[in-house]
Amino acid sequence: MKNYQFFCDFDGTITKEDTLNKFLCLYADKKWLDIEDDWIKGKIGSKECIEKQMQLFDNVDENSLNEFIDSIEIDETFSDFLNYLKSQEIDFYIVSDGFDYFIERILKKYNIVGVKIFSNKLEIKNGKFKTSFPNYNKSCTPGSGVCKCNVIKSNRIVTKRVLYAGDGLSDFCAAKNADFLFAKGKLLQYGKSTPIDNLIEFKSFKEITEYIKML
Ligand SMILES: [Mg+2]
Ligand SMILES: [Zn+2]
Repeated sequence: MKNYQFFCDFDGTITKEDTLNKFLCLYADKKWLDIEDDWIKGKIGSKECIEKQMQLFDNVDENSLNEFIDSIEIDETFSDFLNYLKSQEIDFYIVSDGFDYFIERILKKYNIVGVKIFSNKLEIKNGKFKTSFPNYNKSCTPGSGVCKCNVIKSNRIVTKRVLYAGDGLSDFCAAKNADFLFAKGKLLQYGKSTPIDNLIEFKSFKEITEYIKML
């Protein structure tokens, strides 16, 4: 048994592309781009950004939403990676600044069950999206819906080392709490410039699995 816990981002890390971004591109009123712009310029945090963007919908069709979600693909090596973690009794958690509705449905499609998820919440009520942010922390720097560093701090077991994988801005606060950081995209750039110790570049979960085998 290995003495580790694994915390993992979802969009762009487990999935091949950003689910919410693709969804907004396809279905949202063009105003979503103005809101996105405010986020890019740093005027608003990502929590406020996705909160406002989801308010743009007033006639949500659940069937087409589900159809869209079912078109999302994940890293082909992710299931084997999860099986490996299980065989080593390494706890695994998803920590995502996306919505539970999307994540749960995508995982189910790939027959992945029983994974603990920390994320923002999304419900559909009378054709509208209802969002909530149970893991929000106003004082954390990136203004994300989910403060990933808080999730790690309150769920890690002190005697176990923390492994983390991610690709984006919302992972920055988590990065400093990881003993080993698997990174790609913006998170990789951040890890290099900070710099962060034990930074490992990855493209797929196969590489992460190989790395853990050597630990
Ligand atoms: Mg991501
Ligand atoms: Zn944080």
